[in-house]
Amino acid sequence: MKLVRYNQGRIGAVQNDQLFDLTELLNVDPQEWPPVGMLRVIRDFEALRSGIAAHLQTGAGVPLASVQLQTPIEWPNKLIAYPVNYHDHATEMSSVGFANVKGFFLKANSSLAGPADCIELPALPDRRIDHECELAVIIGKGGRQIAVEDAMDHVFGYSCLLDITVRGQEERVMRKSFDTFTVVGPWIATADEVGDSSDIGLKLWVNGELRQDARTRDLIVNIPQMVALASAAATLHPGDIIATGTPAGVGPIVHGDRVAIEIERVGRMEVGVVRGTRGRNFVFDKSLAPAGQPA
Ligand code: MN
Repeated sequence: MKLVRYNQGRIGAVQNDQLFDLTELLNVDPQEWPPVGMLRVIRDFEALRSGIAAHLQTGAGVPLASVQLQTPIEWPNKLIAYPVNYHDHATEMSSVGFANVKGFFLKANSSLAGPADCIELPALPDRRIDHECELAVIIGKGGRQIAVEDAMDHVFGYSCLLDITVRGQEERVMRKSFDTFTVVGPWIATADEVGDSSDIGLKLWVNGELRQDARTRDLIVNIPQMVALASAAATLHPGDIIATGTPAGVGPIVHGDRVAIEIERVGRMEVGVVRGTRGRNFVFDKSLAPAGQPA
C-alpha cells in the first residue's frame, strides 16, 4: 500500500495513479495541531489495514495528478540520519566518518518538505550546497535496544529522501537543518509492498542528468543494523524516519535546478530548487570568530 498526505493534511492511499481519500475512514482531522494523524495511522495500521483495503475496492478515486502531495510524516518524533554509508561514497569523500564508526546524527524535523514543495537554498552564495539521494526507512513498531534479527519487524515502510547539505566545517546538524532540506515522499510504500530491501536500486537526476546510481546491497551499515544501532541509544517511535545515507555522486544544486529521485518499488518524485533570501547568519559569516582564528 502507498500512503500519502495531501491537500493540507488529508490522508489517502494511491493505487494505479488514483488517489483514494481515507481522511474520514481513519478519523484524521486535517486541521489538527500538531499534525500527527499519520503517526496514529502507522501505530494502528494492522487494525486499520482491512478497512483501508475494502475502501480501495469500493471507493471512488481521483487522479493523483489532481492533488498536491505533502511530505507523508510532517511531525515525527525523530529524523535520524546516517553519514557516509556506501563504500563508493566513502572513497569519494576521503572520509573517516563512516556510519559504522560515527553512528547516527539527527536533522531538525522542521527541515521536512514534500513533493509539491521546492528546496529553498539559504542565502549563502559562496557555499556549495549538495544533494544526497537516500532511501528513507519508516519505523512502525517502536522499541529500545532492538536486536538486528528483529529489526525488520519494526520497519513500517519506505520513502524517497533528499538530504540537502551545506558543505563546511560548522555543526552538521545546522548545515543540514535548513527548512526544506529533507524532502521525503512521494508516499510511504509499506514494507509488504516493497519486499526485500537488501538490494534496492536508487537513482538521482539533476535536470535530467543521472548523478547518483546505487544499490542498498552496497551499504556499509545495512538496514537492520541501522535500526538496531539507533534503538541502542534512543527509543524508536512509530513514524520515526531514518535517512540511510548517500551513495557516491553527490554534487551541487543551484537555483532553477530540477532534482528527481527514484527508488525501485518505492516511488519517484521531482522537486525544484530556488535561492531564498533567508539563512545567512554570523556563524557562516565568521564575523564573531575570535581574533587569531581563521575567518
Ligand atoms: Mn545524508
